[in-house]
Amino acid sequence: MAKILVTGGAGFVGSHLCEQLLREGNEVIALDDFSTGNSDNVLHLAAYKAFTLVEHDVTEPYDFDVELIYNLACPASPPHYQADPVKTTLISVLGAVHALSLGKRRRARVLQASTSEVYGDPLVHPQPESYAGCVNTLGPRACYDEGKRCAESLVMDFHRMYQVETRIVRIFNTYGPRMAFDDGRVVSNFILQALTGDELTIYGDGTQTRSFCFVADLVGGLIRLMQHPTETRPVNLGNPEEFTMRQLAHEVLTLTRSSSRVVERPLPVDDPKQRRPDIRRAREVLGFRPRVALREGLLRTIEDFRERLRLPADVRTASAGGG
Ligand code: NAD
Ligand code: UDP
Repeated sequence: MAKILVTGGAGFVGSHLCEQLLREGNEVIALDDFSTGNSDNVLHLAAYKAFTLVEHDVTEPYDFDVELIYNLACPASPPHYQADPVKTTLISVLGAVHALSLGKRRRARVLQASTSEVYGDPLVHPQPESYAGCVNTLGPRACYDEGKRCAESLVMDFHRMYQVETRIVRIFNTYGPRMAFDDGRVVSNFILQALTGDELTIYGDGTQTRSFCFVADLVGGLIRLMQHPTETRPVNLGNPEEFTMRQLAHEVLTLTRSSSRVVERPLPVDDPKQRRPDIRRAREVLGFRPRVALREGLLRTIEDFRERLRLPADVRTASAGGG
């Protein structure tokens, strides 16, 4: 049992993380400004006496008596983080400074949620942690990519200068129940479009690839990394199965039994062409093995979207489990 702070705790990943930490018997404080997350995501956690939800913006300092800090607060989808790019950089940088300062003050361990975006549009494939990346410092994604890269360097500086116990996780595309309808990322867009009969919008020709990790697998990896006694190097977490966006669109259409059309839309600037994590370090150091295949994870996500859209359950989706 530990006292744990989760910044961004009312977000998509944060809410699943808080839930799992509470299940394991911990005391959890979720800190969030509800800018891209929603208190509805953690409403069901009010049943736990050990859960507290606090509204706060991480660009302002804060103080809590905790032993572990998961620093997740940051808009994560391109439309969200590009809406106010200056604020995005400040959230990453000041958010990291405040989490790390609390770690220093309270001698608490800090896990920083970094991202595969630190690799930019990668020239090395799949991406190992040793790859320094290929990021355009001037483009519309730079606020997020460079903000997260600066946060990583702050983590290492606090570790070296003040001996703060730190962990860095580089998260690759993660999806699952509770993704916001307006999130704008590809999995939530395609599912929403398929269920509501809208056209599925493929950006570019759909040959770009991503690797999708189901949120429960990611959360397991985050907790293992936090619990690791010594690992301060960055660790990739994701599912190395790789798909084109066209394959993903067809899988979503099949699983939702939707007759929506697929259309092409312009490819966003600096959109990475390929992305797949090299997870050897996570496997060796944490014993991390993603268990939920894309099909099964999509079925569980579709079921959640149907419920939230108040659509009748699909017999096959409702009995998902085996996919
Ligand atoms: P999300 O937008 O659902 O969650 C982010 C949460 O942070 C939201 O609840 C939001 O309200 C909160 N937040 C944003 N700015 C804040 C601020 N200034 N103060 C306090 N709270 C603030 O996104 P997510 O997918 O759950 O991402 C969580 C973390 O994981 C982020 O740091 C993101 O960069 C990282 N990540 C996610 C993915 C992914 O595929 N989901 C991939 C790589 C990295
Ligand atoms: N994408 C798409 N249609 C959409 C949303 C996204 O084809 O409606 C593409 C996007 O251009 C990118 C990929 O899907 O190539 C993954 O995008 P997402 O925003 O989910 O994550 P990221 O680009 O940050 O990996």
